[in-house]
Amino acid sequence: MRLLVQKFGGTSVADADRLLQVKDKVCQGFDRGFDKIIVVLSAMSGETNRLISLAKERSPNPDSAEMDSLVSTGEQVSVALFAMMLKDNGIKARSVLGFQIPILTDADFGSARILDIDTQQIEQFFRHYDVLVVAGFQGCTAAGRITTLGRGGSDTSAVALAASMQAELCEIYTDVEGVYTTDPNICSKARKIDRISYDEMLEMASMGAKVLQIRSVAFAKKYNVPVHVRSTFCNNTGTLLIQEDQNMETAMVSGIAYDKDQARVTLVDVQDNPGIAARIFTPVSAAGIVVDMIVQNPSHDGLTDMTFTVPRASLDKTLSILNNLKKEIEFGEILHDNSVSKVSVIGVGMRNHSGIAAITFSTLRNENINIMIISTSEIKISCLIEEKYTELAIRALHEAFGLDKTD
Ligand code: ADP
Ligand code: ASP
Ligand code: MG
Repeated sequence: MRLLVQKFGGTSVADADRLLQVKDKVCQGFDRGFDKIIVVLSAMSGETNRLISLAKERSPNPDSAEMDSLVSTGEQVSVALFAMMLKDNGIKARSVLGFQIPILTDADFGSARILDIDTQQIEQFFRHYDVLVVAGFQGCTAAGRITTLGRGGSDTSAVALAASMQAELCEIYTDVEGVYTTDPNICSKARKIDRISYDEMLEMASMGAKVLQIRSVAFAKKYNVPVHVRSTFCNNTGTLLIQEDQNMETAMVSGIAYDKDQARVTLVDVQDNPGIAARIFTPVSAAGIVVDMIVQNPSHDGLTDMTFTVPRASLDKTLSILNNLKKEIEFGEILHDNSVSKVSVIGVGMRNHSGIAAITFSTLRNENINIMIISTSEIKISCLIEEKYTELAIRALHEAFGLDKTD
């Protein structure tokens, strides 16, 4: 059996006309010789946000399991509507919700991890249907509660289904023509990348390039799933995710990513004693808050400043944890700022080149952009800057590293 997985994002399923274009892509899948197709759909664009606001209007701190029960409904609407359309066109199709397979997850509501997919059930469905229209973003726990996989999670549903069913290919259809050197909606000179290694894509996604959810890339890498990111609205070839190979042309820098979901916190005049960082960050992580960049300045007279970043939605919780810490450890004031963003320069080619950091810093200096925190790995350099300079920084770095398209 030749199996294809196709995933369509929110803009691709936003209205009846676009669903017709999605239907054409499914028909093309059969024309290309595939026998069976799993179509994974997102909620219509804006729908998940609408559902989240409904909850916030009714409950200041909504129960996480109920929240998943609510936000997963957007995908249910999409799959039912699309399955109807396929049937009207004589295609043997049905909608399938996460719990009907099931896609089994842990109970980390809002950001659940897939533990297992019942492939036998899928094979069973395929005895009667040629297309299974599966709701993305959702799964269920062993106890039968509905879970969701985190924002952008339909990408992960698709790649996980492709991995477990050993599909020949997983196509991620979206509103841009592939993975670009930076967000094409911000930089008109962004170039489409024909082939990108899983590692580079992992770094791009984790630094904020939301074209693919990071977990989907991790899955693709682990199970070696061939992924093709492409547009619903044209037939152009998009971007292929592949293992890094020796013959790959490794650009020094392959892309610039940004993440506006950042808030900065500084603890001023912390005692510089052994164990102080553990005492600050243990309660923060116990509360499920993901700390990203951290800097600690050298101490003066035994006192130091500790600065770090957290997701914006976690800022209030972080501040209240730190205020509670005042009983245990001594420090001066707590400063915070939620209008910051992180801009990252990414490339596996950096492993073999020096001077990328210097070019990054001097480019930002030439634009008069102050860097608040720097963090590096062997294939990326990230700088925390004022949010209002994000677009300027992206365009300047894109040009400085020779990524601008020439036409
Ligand atoms: P979908 O609803 O199809 O899942 P998303 O909005 O989640 O689509 O992801 C696609 C968007 O990702 C694009 O519209 C683009 O603005 C953004 N994006 C950010 N960085 C990149 C990049 N490097 N390449 C392509 N798109 C990017
Ligand atoms: N609908 C979900 C979201 O908006 C999942 C997805 O679109 O991938 O995050
Ligand atoms: Mg998405």
